[in-house]
Amino acid sequence: MARPTREHLVALERAHVWPPYTPSERHEQEDPLVVDAAEGPYLFDRDGTRYVDATSSWWSQTLGHRHPRLVRALAAQAERLTHVAAGGATHENVALLAEALAQVAPAGLVRTHFSDDGSTAVEVAIKIAAQYWRQNGRPRRHVFVALGHAYHGDTLGAASLAAIEEFSGVFAPLLFEVVRPPPPDADDWSPVLAALEATLRARQDDIAGVFVEPLVQGASGMRMHPPAVLAELRRMTREVDTFLIADEVFTGYGRTGRMWASDHANVAPDLLCLGKGFTAGILPMGATMASARIYDGFRGGVARALLHGHTFSGHALGCAVAREVLSVYEDERILEGVAPRAERIARAFASFASIPGVLRTRSLGTIGAADLGEPGYGGSGRGWAVARAARARGVHLRPLGDTIYVAPPLNVPLPILDEVLAALGECLALPG
Ligand SMILES: *Cc1c(COP(=O)(O)O)cnc(C)c1O
Repeated sequence: MARPTREHLVALERAHVWPPYTPSERHEQEDPLVVDAAEGPYLFDRDGTRYVDATSSWWSQTLGHRHPRLVRALAAQAERLTHVAAGGATHENVALLAEALAQVAPAGLVRTHFSDDGSTAVEVAIKIAAQYWRQNGRPRRHVFVALGHAYHGDTLGAASLAAIEEFSGVFAPLLFEVVRPPPPDADDWSPVLAALEATLRARQDDIAGVFVEPLVQGASGMRMHPPAVLAELRRMTREVDTFLIADEVFTGYGRTGRMWASDHANVAPDLLCLGKGFTAGILPMGATMASARIYDGFRGGVARALLHGHTFSGHALGCAVAREVLSVYEDERILEGVAPRAERIARAFASFASIPGVLRTRSLGTIGAADLGEPGYGGSGRGWAVARAARARGVHLRPLGDTIYVAPPLNVPLPILDEVLAALGECLALPG
């Protein structure tokens, strides 16, 4: 049977798909990529054009598309078992994956609750923390702290934590209270930390935990803070004995050059949220890791058990792929490979800073970002103009407002990375 034409697919997409974060007018007018296949760093459009996926499909394809070992692990698992519900049943891959995670996670995180994506991983962390305190002597502790410019996902609990007005403003009446210190002014974190410390001391009875995206706040514009900020958050939360909850959905799995961004500060959080790179973007899966202390706070019968779960918890296909991801990281020395890529990205973005119209640039690990306007989701359209110019040069980018950034697969071949950076340099230098 003849395949539908590219045009026909675009027409069906416009008629029936409701895409995320996309104004209807843009959806109806812009020509999307019609991706027919992908391999390594590349996406192949139905029209024959090849694009480098320079932001790894919303940061998820840490090992590139269709890594052969991951595809094989997926196919092999599908031949045996695709899914069995988690209550009262287990299977090889969930047990072995949980063990492997306990070995690679920051110290003390020995217990994993599996869920479906980054947002659910955050929801679970919220519920674990609140329920823990409720049944372990601090029943009023159900208020969370989240930072200015935070993003933790789009479900209502995660959206409550988020500080991105465009995402959460419309839902404000549905969201719970969050304590939020003011964002840093000109990267000066000392007033933020001082305000936070005062709040933590004053509100010891009601603060259940502090959420942080360690080192990089991705969605709000690739904003970065030094490891010392994270170390301070750990010190303060420990002093009042409340939880530090690291949302490493984006930063985990080597994106910043270490396995966990928390490693840069030698920090072990009490709860850790995983998503995106967890299956190297092959299947939707998330996880929340917890310390033994937290897990033990749920002993004592039905009424004290964790009251949360999802149909696909510990999905067999996802677990098989996630295990293989950890093996590939080890066998292909993925983390060691970040350094040479980070160096190229850092050098390129440092040079972009002198291009007229570029306000500032920054980089960490395989992330490089350039602000063409003040960070924020809306922006002037300049970010999108640069993305369109990049597309014409075979590079697929999505800006965050006026912040244009790269976050390629961690194993992107160096010559391809060099091409991307050269193309981006050209696009940034085009008259705005
Ligand atoms: C993407 C992201 C989430 C949400 O993950 P989804 O899989 O999109 O639900 C949460 N936190 C951070 C830091 C993220 O980058």
